[in-house]
Amino acid sequence: MHGETTDLSDSSLRELGIHRIEVPVPFVEAGGPANVYAIEDADGRYTLFDTGIGTSDGIIALRAGASQAGVDLRALSRIVISHGHLDHFGNAQLLSEESGAKVYVHDHDREKVIGDARFAAMLRKHRAYFLSLGVPVETADQMQAAADKSPSQIRYVEPERLVSIGEGAMLDFKHFSVKVKHLPGHTPGLICLWAERQRVFFADDHVLARVSPNPVLDLSQGEGETKFRALCRYLEGAKWVRDLELEMVLPGHGPAFSGHRGLLDGLFGFYDRRQAKILAKLSAGPATIYELLPTLFPRRDLPRMVLMLSEVLANVEVLEDSKRVRVVERGDVVRYGAA
Ligand SMILES: [Zn+2]
Ligand SMILES: [Zn+2]
Repeated sequence: MHGETTDLSDSSLRELGIHRIEVPVPFVEAGGPANVYAIEDADGRYTLFDTGIGTSDGIIALRAGASQAGVDLRALSRIVISHGHLDHFGNAQLLSEESGAKVYVHDHDREKVIGDARFAAMLRKHRAYFLSLGVPVETADQMQAAADKSPSQIRYVEPERLVSIGEGAMLDFKHFSVKVKHLPGHTPGLICLWAERQRVFFADDHVLARVSPNPVLDLSQGEGETKFRALCRYLEGAKWVRDLELEMVLPGHGPAFSGHRGLLDGLFGFYDRRQAKILAKLSAGPATIYELLPTLFPRRDLPRMVLMLSEVLANVEVLEDSKRVRVVERGDVVRYGAA
């Protein structure tokens, strides 16, 4: 989407003992089926990096893909979760029950994986925050009603199955080792796996060839001074990845690819243009986040309201951090203006 990348075949992965299994995702924003990576351990078992979504279609696809690859899902050594989104951790509880393997997740996404950070509850708890973005009361009510209706047949992971994993941890496999990199942005606790020697990077949703990794509004770390500034953190991490020497990126969705530098440079340009639009609008007078929505999204779209608010707020935060925008009114509603 943001630059030329070259797709790489799964056979180059298999030389490293990596099997990529695609699991369908029932929402378009994800950017296609989610990848589960089964990585061969020295003892013949497998480590899973991500699990796919726990819908019946998801479980069927995962079992079919695993048996085709010769991976025994009852003989897993570890289940490593890249981040706390359903299309990545959805089958973790089931697979942990079947194999006895522990589920490794970063502390900052733990709440999501155990079901303590459900979206409907988050909206309710932080209602005043959403109103402060300028969201009309009626729209906030509609967002809440939509969130309350969303499916709840999700299996969260029992806390006693979890193992905390963080920056710098090493994981050894049969053919290579990886270092865990904590790269917050897409979520606060997102991790990637870096095989430095092989120049292979398991990027999950941090670097995707086909869609931008949404800097989703996340209040799990608080809403004041401690608020997680998704895009600011994301861009820091993405700049770090950009400078790595890599031959192969294994994303959370879509085939393996090379050419991450052009892709990320294109993405940085994409955000620069979004910020320029917001800045142009704010030069004409102060506005709330809600009032800025049409500068990036011409059409009102209730099901995508939180994503749209997230995107505008995230870009405003980048402008604020670089002193180009500042808060000019801080009451029940917050207004921003050009600095
Ligand atoms: Zn994803
Ligand atoms: Zn995600």
